[in-house]
Amino acid sequence: MDIDADLGPRVTIRQTEQDHVDFILRGVDLSVANSIRRIMLAEVPTLAIDLVEIDTNTSVLADELLLHRLGLIPLISEGIENLSYSRDCTCDQYCPNCSVKLELAARCDSDSTMNVYASDLAKFHNGLRLGDPVIRDAQQRGPLICKLRKHQELRLTCIAKKGIAKEHAKWLPCAAIGFEYDPWNKLKHTDYWYEVDADAEWPKLANCEWEEAPDPDANFDYTAVPSNYYVDLETVGNLPPNEVVVRGIETLQLKLAGIAVELNKDSVEANDAAAGALTTYGRSPARDGDSPNNGYAYGEGFGSSGW
Ligand SMILES: [Zn+2]
Repeated sequence: MDIDADLGPRVTIRQTEQDHVDFILRGVDLSVANSIRRIMLAEVPTLAIDLVEIDTNTSVLADELLLHRLGLIPLISEGIENLSYSRDCTCDQYCPNCSVKLELAARCDSDSTMNVYASDLAKFHNGLRLGDPVIRDAQQRGPLICKLRKHQELRLTCIAKKGIAKEHAKWLPCAAIGFEYDPWNKLKHTDYWYEVDADAEWPKLANCEWEEAPDPDANFDYTAVPSNYYVDLETVGNLPPNEVVVRGIETLQLKLAGIAVELNKDSVEANDAAAGALTTYGRSPARDGDSPNNGYAYGEGFGSSGW
Protein backbone atom coordinates (compact mmCIF):
# COMPACT_ATOMS: atom_id res chain seq x y z
CA MET A 1 0.00 0.00 0.00
CA ASP A 2 2.78 2.41 0.88
CA ILE A 3 4.55 1.51 -2.35
CA ASP A 4 1.44 2.56 -4.29
CA ALA A 5 1.40 5.93 -2.58
CA ASP A 6 5.04 6.49 -3.53
CA LEU A 7 4.34 5.86 -7.20
CA GLY A 8 1.60 8.48 -7.37
CA PRO A 9 -1.87 8.11 -8.85
CA ARG A 10 -2.39 5.32 -11.38
CA VAL A 11 -5.40 4.06 -13.27
CA THR A 12 -6.13 0.55 -14.54
CA ILE A 13 -9.06 0.39 -16.95
CA ARG A 14 -10.84 -2.94 -16.60
CA GLN A 15 -13.73 -2.46 -18.97
CA THR A 16 -14.80 0.30 -21.32
CA GLU A 17 -17.89 0.81 -23.46
CA GLN A 18 -19.60 3.75 -25.14
CA ASP A 19 -21.35 4.89 -21.95
CA HIS A 20 -19.50 2.95 -19.31
CA VAL A 21 -16.04 2.64 -17.84
CA ASP A 22 -14.82 0.44 -15.03
CA PHE A 23 -11.40 1.31 -13.62
CA ILE A 24 -9.19 1.00 -10.58
CA LEU A 25 -7.69 4.18 -9.16
CA ARG A 26 -4.54 3.59 -7.15
CA GLY A 27 -2.09 5.58 -5.12
CA VAL A 28 -4.34 8.39 -3.89
CA ASP A 29 -5.89 9.17 -0.54
CA LEU A 30 -9.48 8.10 0.11
CA SER A 31 -10.51 11.75 0.41
CA VAL A 32 -9.14 12.50 -3.07
CA ALA A 33 -10.81 9.47 -4.65
CA ASN A 34 -14.12 10.34 -3.02
CA SER A 35 -13.80 14.00 -4.06
CA ILE A 36 -13.39 12.92 -7.67
CA ARG A 37 -16.47 10.71 -7.37
CA ARG A 38 -18.56 13.52 -5.93
CA ILE A 39 -17.35 16.06 -8.48
CA MET A 40 -18.16 13.67 -11.36
CA LEU A 41 -21.67 13.25 -9.95
CA ALA A 42 -22.47 16.87 -9.29
CA GLU A 43 -20.16 19.40 -10.90
CA VAL A 44 -19.20 18.38 -14.42
CA PRO A 45 -20.95 20.88 -16.73
CA THR A 46 -23.34 19.58 -19.36
CA LEU A 47 -26.11 20.99 -21.55
CA ALA A 48 -29.84 20.66 -20.81
CA ILE A 49 -33.05 22.44 -21.78
CA ASP A 50 -33.61 25.16 -19.21
CA LEU A 51 -36.05 27.60 -20.77
CA VAL A 52 -39.08 26.81 -22.94
CA GLU A 53 -41.30 29.26 -24.78
CA ILE A 54 -44.60 27.54 -25.49
CA ASP A 55 -46.64 28.79 -28.43
CA THR A 56 -49.19 26.00 -28.43
CA ASN A 57 -49.76 23.04 -26.17
CA THR A 58 -53.09 21.32 -26.72
CA SER A 59 -51.74 17.92 -25.66
CA VAL A 60 -53.05 16.19 -22.55
CA LEU A 61 -49.84 17.02 -20.70
CA ALA A 62 -49.76 20.17 -18.57
CA ASP A 63 -47.04 22.65 -19.52
CA GLU A 64 -45.06 21.94 -16.32
CA LEU A 65 -44.97 18.20 -16.98
CA LEU A 66 -43.92 18.73 -20.56
CA LEU A 67 -41.11 21.08 -19.47
CA HIS A 68 -39.89 18.57 -16.93
CA ARG A 69 -39.70 15.90 -19.61
CA LEU A 70 -37.90 18.23 -22.02
CA GLY A 71 -35.36 19.16 -19.35
CA LEU A 72 -34.48 15.53 -18.73
CA ILE A 73 -33.69 14.72 -22.38
CA PRO A 74 -29.92 14.15 -22.57
CA LEU A 75 -28.29 16.51 -25.06
CA ILE A 76 -24.85 15.92 -26.53
CA SER A 77 -22.49 18.04 -24.44
CA GLU A 78 -19.16 17.46 -26.17
CA GLY A 79 -17.72 20.90 -26.83
CA ILE A 80 -19.52 22.41 -23.82
CA GLU A 81 -16.28 24.22 -22.93
CA ASN A 82 -17.02 26.57 -25.86
CA LEU A 83 -20.27 27.65 -24.23
CA SER A 84 -20.47 30.19 -21.38
CA TYR A 85 -22.78 29.93 -18.42
CA SER A 86 -25.70 32.30 -19.07
CA ARG A 87 -25.09 33.98 -15.74
CA ASP A 88 -21.53 34.85 -16.85
CA CYS A 89 -22.54 35.98 -20.34
CA THR A 90 -22.85 39.61 -21.34
CA CYS A 91 -26.27 39.07 -22.95
CA ASP A 92 -29.59 39.87 -21.24
CA GLN A 93 -31.11 36.41 -21.17
CA TYR A 94 -29.49 34.04 -23.67
CA CYS A 95 -27.50 34.18 -26.88
CA PRO A 96 -25.57 31.75 -29.13
CA ASN A 97 -22.53 32.12 -26.84
CA CYS A 98 -24.37 30.72 -23.83
CA SER A 99 -27.23 28.62 -25.22
CA VAL A 100 -28.43 26.25 -27.92
CA LYS A 101 -31.88 26.70 -29.39
CA LEU A 102 -34.16 23.78 -30.31
CA GLU A 103 -37.64 23.88 -31.78
CA LEU A 104 -40.47 21.41 -31.61
CA ALA A 105 -43.46 21.54 -33.92
CA ALA A 106 -45.81 18.57 -34.04
CA ARG A 107 -49.47 18.27 -34.98
CA CYS A 108 -51.56 15.17 -35.19
CA ASP A 109 -53.99 15.13 -38.13
CA SER A 110 -54.67 11.40 -38.28
CA ASP A 111 -57.05 9.21 -36.32
CA SER A 112 -54.22 7.23 -34.82
CA THR A 113 -52.13 8.47 -31.87
CA MET A 114 -48.98 10.33 -32.81
CA ASN A 115 -45.84 9.90 -30.74
CA VAL A 116 -43.51 12.88 -30.35
CA TYR A 117 -39.89 11.88 -29.76
CA ALA A 118 -36.69 13.73 -28.90
CA SER A 119 -35.64 13.25 -32.53
CA ASP A 120 -38.46 15.66 -33.48
CA LEU A 121 -36.59 18.47 -31.74
CA ALA A 122 -35.02 20.56 -34.49
CA LYS A 123 -31.82 22.25 -33.44
CA PHE A 124 -30.82 25.61 -34.83
CA HIS A 125 -27.69 24.71 -36.73
CA ASN A 126 -24.55 25.66 -34.82
CA GLY A 127 -22.11 23.59 -36.85
CA LEU A 128 -21.49 21.27 -33.89
CA ARG A 129 -23.01 18.15 -32.40
CA LEU A 130 -23.41 20.16 -29.21
CA GLY A 131 -27.10 20.25 -28.31
CA ASP A 132 -28.28 17.34 -30.45
CA PRO A 133 -30.54 15.00 -28.46
CA VAL A 134 -28.80 11.72 -27.54
CA ILE A 135 -30.46 9.06 -29.69
CA ARG A 136 -29.39 5.44 -29.31
CA ASP A 137 -32.42 3.32 -30.15
CA ALA A 138 -32.57 1.27 -33.35
CA GLN A 139 -35.40 3.39 -34.79
CA GLN A 140 -33.39 6.59 -34.17
CA ARG A 141 -36.23 8.25 -32.26
CA GLY A 142 -34.81 9.00 -28.84
CA PRO A 143 -36.89 9.39 -25.68
CA LEU A 144 -40.67 9.76 -26.01
CA ILE A 145 -41.79 13.28 -25.08
CA CYS A 146 -45.58 12.95 -25.40
CA LYS A 147 -48.44 11.48 -27.41
CA LEU A 148 -50.91 13.51 -29.45
CA ARG A 149 -54.46 12.66 -30.46
CA LYS A 150 -56.22 14.08 -33.52
CA HIS A 151 -56.07 17.91 -33.74
CA GLN A 152 -53.72 18.19 -30.78
CA GLU A 153 -50.62 20.27 -31.36
CA LEU A 154 -47.29 21.19 -29.82
CA ARG A 155 -45.29 24.24 -30.86
CA LEU A 156 -42.48 25.39 -28.65
CA THR A 157 -38.95 26.74 -28.58
CA CYS A 158 -36.42 25.31 -26.13
CA ILE A 159 -33.30 27.07 -24.88
CA ALA A 160 -30.65 24.67 -23.65
CA LYS A 161 -28.12 26.09 -21.24
CA LYS A 162 -24.91 24.98 -19.59
CA GLY A 163 -25.23 23.89 -15.98
CA ILE A 164 -24.17 21.42 -13.32
CA ALA A 165 -26.10 18.70 -11.50
CA LYS A 166 -25.67 20.54 -8.19
CA GLU A 167 -28.21 23.04 -9.57
CA HIS A 168 -30.58 20.49 -11.08
CA ALA A 169 -30.38 16.75 -11.77
CA LYS A 170 -31.11 17.32 -15.48
CA TRP A 171 -27.45 18.35 -15.87
CA LEU A 172 -26.18 15.01 -14.53
CA PRO A 173 -23.53 13.46 -16.77
CA CYS A 174 -23.66 10.15 -14.84
CA ALA A 175 -26.48 7.71 -14.36
CA ALA A 176 -24.55 5.98 -11.58
CA ILE A 177 -21.07 5.69 -10.12
CA GLY A 178 -20.12 2.53 -8.29
CA PHE A 179 -17.36 3.17 -5.78
CA GLU A 180 -15.68 0.55 -3.64
CA TYR A 181 -12.45 0.02 -1.74
CA ASP A 182 -11.05 -2.67 0.54
CA PRO A 183 -13.31 -5.51 -0.73
CA TRP A 184 -11.94 -7.90 1.95
CA ASN A 185 -12.83 -5.36 4.65
CA LYS A 186 -9.30 -5.63 6.05
CA LEU A 187 -9.53 -2.07 7.35
CA LYS A 188 -12.79 -2.83 9.20
CA HIS A 189 -14.49 0.30 7.84
CA THR A 190 -17.63 -1.80 7.48
CA ASP A 191 -19.29 -3.91 10.14
CA TYR A 192 -21.16 -6.77 8.48
CA TRP A 193 -24.37 -7.71 10.19
CA TYR A 194 -24.75 -11.48 10.52
CA GLU A 195 -26.71 -14.14 12.38
CA VAL A 196 -24.13 -16.88 12.81
CA ASP A 197 -21.13 -16.41 10.53
CA ALA A 198 -20.48 -13.25 8.51
CA ASP A 199 -18.16 -15.04 6.06
CA ALA A 200 -20.80 -17.62 5.22
CA GLU A 201 -23.72 -15.21 5.07
CA TRP A 202 -22.15 -12.43 2.99
CA PRO A 203 -21.19 -13.23 -0.62
CA LYS A 204 -17.61 -12.51 -1.59
CA LEU A 205 -17.32 -9.28 -3.58
CA ALA A 206 -16.15 -9.49 -7.19
CA ASN A 207 -13.32 -7.05 -6.49
CA CYS A 208 -11.82 -9.47 -3.94
CA GLU A 209 -10.08 -11.13 -6.89
CA TRP A 210 -8.00 -7.99 -7.33
CA GLU A 211 -6.57 -8.03 -3.81
CA GLU A 212 -4.85 -10.57 -1.61
CA ALA A 213 -7.01 -12.35 0.93
CA PRO A 214 -6.32 -11.31 4.51
CA ASP A 215 -4.16 -13.55 6.67
CA PRO A 216 -6.51 -14.76 9.45
CA ASP A 217 -3.58 -15.05 11.88
CA ALA A 218 -2.17 -11.57 11.24
CA ASN A 219 -2.72 -8.80 13.78
CA PHE A 220 -4.97 -5.92 12.78
CA ASP A 221 -2.93 -3.18 11.15
CA TYR A 222 -4.05 0.11 12.65
CA THR A 223 -1.84 2.11 10.29
CA ALA A 224 -3.21 0.61 7.06
CA VAL A 225 -4.99 2.97 4.66
CA PRO A 226 -7.02 2.19 1.52
CA SER A 227 -5.14 2.49 -1.74
CA ASN A 228 -7.22 0.77 -4.47
CA TYR A 229 -10.55 2.29 -5.46
CA TYR A 230 -12.86 0.42 -7.81
CA VAL A 231 -14.89 2.89 -9.83
CA ASP A 232 -17.73 1.83 -12.13
CA LEU A 233 -19.05 4.83 -14.02
CA GLU A 234 -22.08 4.90 -16.29
CA THR A 235 -23.03 8.05 -18.19
CA VAL A 236 -26.39 9.12 -19.58
CA GLY A 237 -24.89 9.62 -23.04
CA ASN A 238 -24.34 13.38 -23.10
CA LEU A 239 -20.60 13.01 -22.43
CA PRO A 240 -18.34 9.98 -23.01
CA PRO A 241 -17.17 8.42 -19.72
CA ASN A 242 -13.51 9.36 -20.21
CA GLU A 243 -14.50 13.02 -20.55
CA VAL A 244 -16.55 12.83 -17.37
CA VAL A 245 -13.46 11.59 -15.49
CA VAL A 246 -11.10 14.13 -17.03
CA ARG A 247 -13.48 17.06 -16.56
CA GLY A 248 -14.23 15.94 -13.03
CA ILE A 249 -10.52 16.09 -12.20
CA GLU A 250 -10.20 19.45 -13.98
CA THR A 251 -13.12 20.85 -11.98
CA LEU A 252 -11.55 19.63 -8.74
CA GLN A 253 -8.25 21.27 -9.71
CA LEU A 254 -10.02 24.56 -10.45
CA LYS A 255 -11.82 24.47 -7.10
CA LEU A 256 -8.55 23.79 -5.27
CA ALA A 257 -6.86 26.57 -7.24
CA GLY A 258 -9.67 28.91 -6.15
CA ILE A 259 -9.02 28.04 -2.52
CA ALA A 260 -5.28 28.55 -3.01
CA VAL A 261 -5.88 31.99 -4.56
CA GLU A 262 -8.13 33.04 -1.68
CA LEU A 263 -5.66 31.79 0.92
CA ASN A 264 -2.86 33.54 -0.90
CA LYS A 265 -4.84 36.78 -0.87
CA ASP A 266 -5.14 36.57 2.90
CA SER A 267 -1.45 35.91 3.30
CA VAL A 268 -0.62 38.80 0.95
CA GLU A 269 -2.82 41.11 2.99
CA ALA A 270 -1.22 39.84 6.17
CA ASN A 271 2.22 40.37 4.64
CA ASP A 272 1.27 43.86 3.51
CA ALA A 273 -0.05 44.69 6.97
CA ALA A 274 3.11 43.33 8.53
CA ALA A 275 5.23 45.20 6.02
CA GLY A 276 3.29 48.40 6.70
CA ALA A 277 4.09 48.03 10.39
CA LEU A 278 7.74 47.55 9.54
CA THR A 279 8.03 50.76 7.50
CA THR A 280 8.48 52.69 10.73
CA TYR A 281 11.81 50.91 10.98
CA GLY A 282 12.80 51.91 7.45
CA ARG A 283 12.24 48.49 5.81
CA SER A 284 10.50 47.83 2.51
CA PRO A 285 7.70 45.24 2.33
CA ALA A 286 8.70 41.66 1.61
CA ARG A 287 6.29 41.46 -1.30
CA ASP A 288 5.16 44.38 -3.44
CA GLY A 289 1.87 42.64 -4.41
CA ASP A 290 -1.05 44.29 -6.15
CA SER A 291 -1.67 47.05 -3.71
CA PRO A 292 -2.40 50.37 -5.47
CA ASN A 293 -0.44 52.09 -2.73
CA ASN A 294 2.84 50.34 -3.25
CA GLY A 295 5.75 52.23 -4.65
CA TYR A 296 5.21 55.31 -2.57
CA ALA A 297 3.21 54.49 0.54
CA TYR A 298 6.10 52.71 2.18
CA GLY A 299 8.58 55.47 1.53
CA GLU A 300 12.23 54.71 1.87
CA GLY A 301 13.86 51.56 0.69
CA PHE A 302 11.44 50.97 -2.15
CA GLY A 303 13.01 52.79 -5.09
CA SER A 304 15.35 50.05 -6.25
CA SER A 305 12.65 47.41 -6.75
CA GLY A 306 11.25 49.17 -9.83
CA TRP A 307 7.64 48.87 -8.64
ZN1 LIG B 1 -25.35 34.91 -23.72
